[in-house]
Amino acid sequence: MNATDTLTLALSKGRIFDETLPLLRAAGIEVLEDPQTSRKLILPTNRPGVRVVLVRATDVPTYVEHGGADLGVCGKDTLIEHAAAWGGSAHVGLVEPLDLGIARCRMSVAVPADFDYARAVRQGARLRVATKYVAIAREFFASKGVHVDLIKLYGSMELAPLTGLADAIVDLVSTGNTLKANRLVEVERIMDISSRLVVRPAALKVKAAQIRPLLQAFARAVGAPVAA
Ligand code: AMP
Repeated sequence: MNATDTLTLALSKGRIFDETLPLLRAAGIEVLEDPQTSRKLILPTNRPGVRVVLVRATDVPTYVEHGGADLGVCGKDTLIEHAAAWGGSAHVGLVEPLDLGIARCRMSVAVPADFDYARAVRQGARLRVATKYVAIAREFFASKGVHVDLIKLYGSMELAPLTGLADAIVDLVSTGNTLKANRLVEVERIMDISSRLVVRPAALKVKAAQIRPLLQAFARAVGAPVAA
């Protein structure tokens, strides 16, 4: 149970977990088990009142919003898609007090190297776009006045244009190596993405004594101001 004297932080395994560890350390918190070797989903820390829960990246907002965790770290992409799925950000019970600047990447449109994207857009062609990020893609193409048929996928978007499923994809790009390996080229940069700290407003009130110092330590470590 997520008791009032326990602070629970939701993280996803991989880049977000790895890049949050130094921030926790800066706040004097050491996670006592390594998710690579442990199969535990609740990880204790050196602070008896602080624990980490490992959840899927797309589940972080849900855990925080509904009280399974008090705070969490997730990508801006995940937050936008979560808010859209639940009727817009105004309805989401989350505050986003800090841009941690970690797990940086960008959301981009990519097409096969031999597809003339600029020409298709100029001619008003209807594009078939495969993506996991339907809200971001819908908003982007609507703002450009480009007609698209969005095809929702849950994995390996790069495969879609290679198999004729789609003309283009909208996906996260970091080094660009995945695109290159699949002979895709980036034709639009939709937005820069980084991971944010998210907190349930009620937790911010009830557990202010535990959360505020953590926010301050994280803010100092990343050199960014706290916005809540
Ligand atoms: P890259 O080859 O370095 O450009 O990475 C691209 C692949 O990694 C794509 O499959 C992306 O969906 C995924 N990816 C890149 N950056 C992130 C991130 N910050 N969070 C989640 N997935 C990412």
